[in-house]
Amino acid sequence: LDPEEFKRQGYMMIDFLADYYGNVGKYPVLSNVEPGYLKKLLPSTAPLGPEPIESILKDVKEHIIPGITHWMSPNYYGYFPSSSSIAGFVGEMLSTGFGAVGFNWISSPAATELESIVMDWLGQVLMLPKPFLFSSNGNGGGVLLGTTCEAFLCTLVAARDKKLSQVGTHNIGKLVVYGSDQTHSSLQKAAQIAGINPKNYRAIKTKRSSSFALSPDSLLSTILLDVENGLIPCFLCATVGTTGTTAIDPVGSLCNVAKDYGIWVHVDAAYAGAVCICPEFRYCIDGVEHANSFSFNAHKWFLTNLACCCLWVKDHTALTNSLSTDPHFLRNKASESKKVIDYKDWQITLSRKFNSLKLWLVLRSYGVDNLRNFLRHHVEMAKTFEGLVRLDMRFEVVVPRNFSMVCFRIAPTAVANGLSNGTKFDPIGKILNDKHYLVNEINRKLLDLINSSGSVYMTQSEIEGDFVIRCAIGATLTEENHVIMAWTLVQEHANSLVGAFKK
Ligand code: PLP
Repeated sequence: LDPEEFKRQGYMMIDFLADYYGNVGKYPVLSNVEPGYLKKLLPSTAPLGPEPIESILKDVKEHIIPGITHWMSPNYYGYFPSSSSIAGFVGEMLSTGFGAVGFNWISSPAATELESIVMDWLGQVLMLPKPFLFSSNGNGGGVLLGTTCEAFLCTLVAARDKKLSQVGTHNIGKLVVYGSDQTHSSLQKAAQIAGINPKNYRAIKTKRSSSFALSPDSLLSTILLDVENGLIPCFLCATVGTTGTTAIDPVGSLCNVAKDYGIWVHVDAAYAGAVCICPEFRYCIDGVEHANSFSFNAHKWFLTNLACCCLWVKDHTALTNSLSTDPHFLRNKASESKKVIDYKDWQITLSRKFNSLKLWLVLRSYGVDNLRNFLRHHVEMAKTFEGLVRLDMRFEVVVPRNFSMVCFRIAPTAVANGLSNGTKFDPIGKILNDKHYLVNEINRKLLDLINSSGSVYMTQSEIEGDFVIRCAIGATLTEENHVIMAWTLVQEHANSLVGAFKK
């Protein structure tokens, strides 16, 4: 770590990345390489001697960049965003630079203390109820994890052990985990890892008429049936901003049902939690005061570089009862005094990055007002996109837009009109008689065309068997002109697909 060489290479990388950010809009957003492309380009063994950074960087430009899907592109609308910012980047640099591994307080006191301060700051900005904050001097507080998958697993394990302490560990096979058919798949994975009987994972069906939110009545009837069958309700995930359609589960009413059965309620706001710092969106998490835990990903839509999942719990002892270990080599006076937090006991891994630095930098460099405005700007752009979709009668907005994602498709009526006009449409070279299948295939083809153009990247979801295109706005560099361009591109490709359709 020679300081002069560090500066030389460091500046070189910053120049390189500054150039990348300046030009990222020009790259094909979705990488179009073939599987195994890199193996053909790189040597099959590691070099025995050192290589200069210049030749490594040349390989990055020539071989790595073509294989990157550019999540930082202003034309990126896939999945949900993975945000980045100067503050988040610089914070990440600091954290990596210090290389401090703050698993317990003594291993880096500032890492632990800054994390608990920043989690309280952010908790206050979100107007989380006091019991979730350290400042309430109860058992509540926040921790930074890598991803929501970890938040699911940690809270589920805590809930499982809490329940088993009441009903006996021999009953583990009877514990039931509840979510909806819109809940993120990583809850099911967490349940598998946590030893929940796979038959006891409930993906409760949601309905279009309730905008795909989990209904408290459906939850109750599912619970009643389970109880009747001798099973033991344990954990519920309520989602605010589901991945498929950004549905908002009614947190308060669901908690109301859950409380009678001693169910741990976790609120997953992985994507939409960020925007709940705006007072006008805070209602989305109303009722969180009755939940046990709440998490959102600052790396999704909060200008904080990957990875940074914020988890708050009301009772951290539930986490630490399940996740603590006390090996001899980690013992120290501070831990024994019980006056400090040892975050290793709140999470799965031992080693952990000094992640609070980047969140601290984001909060300080932007300030809460600017963060709110940044999020609102994305919501406004999504409104613009939605408006454009609605203006074109061939398309429909499939579910109400709640935040900055628009779910749309070529409407069945447009396809039917095209057919009745005698249009021959055979997008995959098959004879298509089934109208529903045809509508899906047309939309699938449209998405393929959009993405293979390289000019934008969007992804899909399936809603009650319908293939739907998701346009998730939230990349840091996206501006209104990009959104308008994206819509023009969608229309152009739709024209080529359904050219004979009347507008
Ligand atoms: N929950 C929701 C609602 C999500 O949208 C996602 C990812 O997009 C997740 C959970 C999983 O998040 P992570 O990748 O951080 O585990």
